[in-house]
Amino acid sequence: MDPSDVQAIVVHCSAGASSASVEDIRRLHVEGRGWSDIGYHWLIDANGVVHAGRDEARVGAHAIGFNHRSIAVCLIGHYDEGRDLLTDAMWEALVDLCTSLARRYGVDSQDIVGHRETYDRRGERRLKTCPGTAVNMARLRGAVEQRLNPPPLDVSWTLTESECVPRSESVPE
Ligand SMILES: [Zn+2]
Repeated sequence: MDPSDVQAIVVHCSAGASSASVEDIRRLHVEGRGWSDIGYHWLIDANGVVHAGRDEARVGAHAIGFNHRSIAVCLIGHYDEGRDLLTDAMWEALVDLCTSLARRYGVDSQDIVGHRETYDRRGERRLKTCPGTAVNMARLRGAVEQRLNPPPLDVSWTLTESECVPRSESVPE
């Protein structure tokens, strides 16, 4: 896959055990489905550790119609409400990973989408919850946008040479 072809980042969950390893999922995809390799490019485990899956240079196998123009990130486990807990560590890892991928490929934060937000061949929303109803995609896009384009510093807290208090509170001599 040519880097210039990458227009989106698609987020998934494995919808299996949160204890599964990358090798377990690779075996499922290769032996179970007959694919050449694991379908996702990156995976995040229940401890928030990021693992490499399929080489980014190769087209993934994860969202029909989107494979040729996206990088696939997968949360290991099942993240519908009431299933596995999406921990802060996993969330932070997801924001970090999506931020670095967006920066590397020049992907807009608005083009970070959940599998459920992609469309099938007939242009219809998929009947899926992937990456899980507990994963707020709008919040993820907002968090990545903050990292990519942080708001300017608040200048009202400009420090003078001798004091570390806001200007408005400085005492006249
Ligand atoms: Zn998916």
